[in-house]
Amino acid sequence: MVSIGINEAAAFQKAVSKAENICLVTHMHPDGDALGSSLGLMNWFHESGLRARVVLPDSEPESIAFMAEGTEPGTVIRADLNMAEALDAISSADLLICLDMNVFNRAEPLTEALEATLCPRILIDHHIGPDESLFQIVMSRPEISSTSELVFWLLMSLPGTGGDARRLPRFCADSLMTGMTTDTNNFSNSAIPSTFSMASMLIDAGVDRDAIVTRINNRYREERVRLMGHMLGNLMEITDEGVAFMVLDKATQDRFGIREGETEGFVNIPLTIDKVGISMLLKEDTDRFRVSIRSKKGLSARRLAMEWFNGGGHEQAAGGKLPKALVPDAEGVTQYVRNAVRKFMENEN
Ligand code: 5GP
Ligand code: MN
Repeated sequence: MVSIGINEAAAFQKAVSKAENICLVTHMHPDGDALGSSLGLMNWFHESGLRARVVLPDSEPESIAFMAEGTEPGTVIRADLNMAEALDAISSADLLICLDMNVFNRAEPLTEALEATLCPRILIDHHIGPDESLFQIVMSRPEISSTSELVFWLLMSLPGTGGDARRLPRFCADSLMTGMTTDTNNFSNSAIPSTFSMASMLIDAGVDRDAIVTRINNRYREERVRLMGHMLGNLMEITDEGVAFMVLDKATQDRFGIREGETEGFVNIPLTIDKVGISMLLKEDTDRFRVSIRSKKGLSARRLAMEWFNGGGHEQAAGGKLPKALVPDAEGVTQYVRNAVRKFMENEN
């Protein structure tokens, strides 16, 4: 079991009990874990009679929008749709909880607002290298599967549950299961013994895991699958070093009618090829190419992200960016990547 120290749990409980207006914030381009951990914890607060809101730096992709269905109106604020309300929720909070992010600038458009907060701040996260100076309470567990799992064990350590998952509200239990399942890619990476314990306890508490997995995996739009075929068939390049990469420009995204978040998961597929040790997806955005990196054990996606793409993340799943000011188009990105992986793999081997 993941241990949440008695002092840690008590400090959390004390901070929460004093709070009348809790603001939960997660990272830009929220994924299933960011959303699941935030919504799950918010729901727990609501059911405990506390006032809490979630602020997302930008809207969640359509593929996981189902997760917020059923939340009370006004409790999930999306900064891209209503920046004034997002800033107000942050500045008026008397307790700030950051989830699934280790530094404020992962919540990009909200960075300054977060820095300006004077209330107590709590971090709940599983990324390496949190900026501990920013928070009064730091719950950082890089070894754990997901922030959703960490929230689960935190709740299990509180008097309100007494370690009994059946005392979690249904929405909270579903959110945490969904977040953990997406972040581990349905138990295929980063799952540790406690992850299975969590799943077991939640299923015992009545969570319908099969329904959740079906909801996550089998509800995509046709456009996504057509683009996937095109990318694997025509855009994927594999270097001599065993690095597979795909560069997806804006024109192609438009041609296939692709929406935000619909390429989620693509980067994992080339890793199923035996000779591929690292897989990368570089996707054109307004002013940059967003970079996703995955690696097999023994190769560090995180180091590649840090050294060449101004990013970071986990050992086997990381990301970063290439500003268009540096590489203007897909051809420039391709050149940059070929050079970067050649130099990177020279040092790895
Ligand atoms: P994804 O490829 O799913 O977008 O991101 C995988 C992981 O990489 C994330 O969980 C996060 O830890 C990390 N990551 C993605 N983009 C960035 C970035 O721009 N900066 C940093 N530091 N980490 C990133
Ligand atoms: Mn996560």
